Amino acid sequence: AHLARIDAVDEKVHAFLHIDREGALAQARAVDAKREAGEKLGPLAGVPLALKDIFTTKDMPTTVGSKILEGWVPPYDATLTQKLRAADVVILGKTNMDEFAMGSSTENSAYGPTGNPWDLTRIPGGSGGGSSAALASYEAPLAIGTDTGGSIRQPAAVTGTVGVKPTYGGVSRYGMVAFSSSLDQGGPCARTVLDAALLHEAIAGHDPLDSTSIDAPVPPVVEAARNGSVQGMRVGVVKQFRGEGYQAGVLQRFDESVELLKSLGADIVELDCPSFDLALSAYYLIAPSECSSNLARFDAMRYGLRVGDDGTKSAEEVTALTREAGFGDEVKRRIILGTYALSSGYYDAYYGSAQKVRTLITQDFEKAFEQVDVIVSPTTPTTAFPIGERADDPMAMYLADLCTIPTNLAGNSAMSLPCGLAPEDGLPVGLQIIAPAMKDDRLYKVGAAVE
Ligand code: GLN
Repeated sequence: AHLARIDAVDEKVHAFLHIDREGALAQARAVDAKREAGEKLGPLAGVPLALKDIFTTKDMPTTVGSKILEGWVPPYDATLTQKLRAADVVILGKTNMDEFAMGSSTENSAYGPTGNPWDLTRIPGGSGGGSSAALASYEAPLAIGTDTGGSIRQPAAVTGTVGVKPTYGGVSRYGMVAFSSSLDQGGPCARTVLDAALLHEAIAGHDPLDSTSIDAPVPPVVEAARNGSVQGMRVGVVKQFRGEGYQAGVLQRFDESVELLKSLGADIVELDCPSFDLALSAYYLIAPSECSSNLARFDAMRYGLRVGDDGTKSAEEVTALTREAGFGDEVKRRIILGTYALSSGYYDAYYGSAQKVRTLITQDFEKAFEQVDVIVSPTTPTTAFPIGERADDPMAMYLADLCTIPTNLAGNSAMSLPCGLAPEDGLPVGLQIIAPAMKDDRLYKVGAAVE
């Protein structure tokens, strides 16, 4: 049924970069055979899923939305891919994304944009717009995203779906193509809080192949999602998460959500987190710096594309020609920015300062979580904007992540879930819930109560 749905709508939506029809049907039949034989089935047996094209898959290409990896089929499965297979999930295919997960609209994909199923002329968010669009268009009931600065939560917000950025280190990064390693985190996307929890539990857990993976039990997210409540909980509202640039209808729905939380028995606490105003600036130094280092591996010698290798050019020339042809504008912009920020003489002024701001943000969160159990905010300042509107204005594009980025810098966990439609345009608004590190279960407890 999901393959038929993809056939019917994906030409318009363009959520998928690759559809694995045969593989999905074979997997579904294997689940049936197991069931008939009375064998033990995985927790998500037979449930179809759309996988962001940033996780390696040994039976499907992995492009990361870039021409530089066009046609590359990895020799191994990411840990997350292996866990999905072990849970008997049916992987339908790989979803569209901003190139190397850099963007907030999926317009930076080298393979063309994805449409928002609510209005195909608008963006589905990014970088994981393909995964969120697949959910919102009913092409898949579950999807996987990655969140470096908001790429799970912002697409969830603008498509009226649920997305969770687990605690940094909660889900293995092994086999997840690196953008900014100290921020990147894979996580679940779904249409309900409970569905997200079931997927969360299937993909989380310690992995010795990822040195930053946390060696501790997975927070009890499914139990929390089944027992939604905010009775007696202290819920923080941060002063810095509103003001200029926020759409009136987004703030209206957010204020209503706060009223709802109050009526369900939560205590609302006003919080002041002054360093959050600096989060965007710090992020756009740290993320490009790490990206400039991580993307150095795309040198035309090891993976994918190789341009100009006609026997007359040096390796250096081939590398330069390949990068020129293989990387898009935003990726080049970030590599240049990051290389500059890390260069000798500038390191302390830029990267060093950004790291200090990162510490201040972490401290602001620590202070806040002494007073509250969770923090709530709008997920993103506006609803889905029209495709093309911000494409030539990187600064305007970066503003989409105003509320999501502090969480990545601090490494704690956060969820976005739908909280109604904005009256002025009828488009979905996202409510963000933020919890301390390894308290991901609180997201689900609160999310299930207000869903
Ligand atoms: N939009 C942000 C960026 O462009 C976040 C991306 C992400 O979370 N992968 O960097």
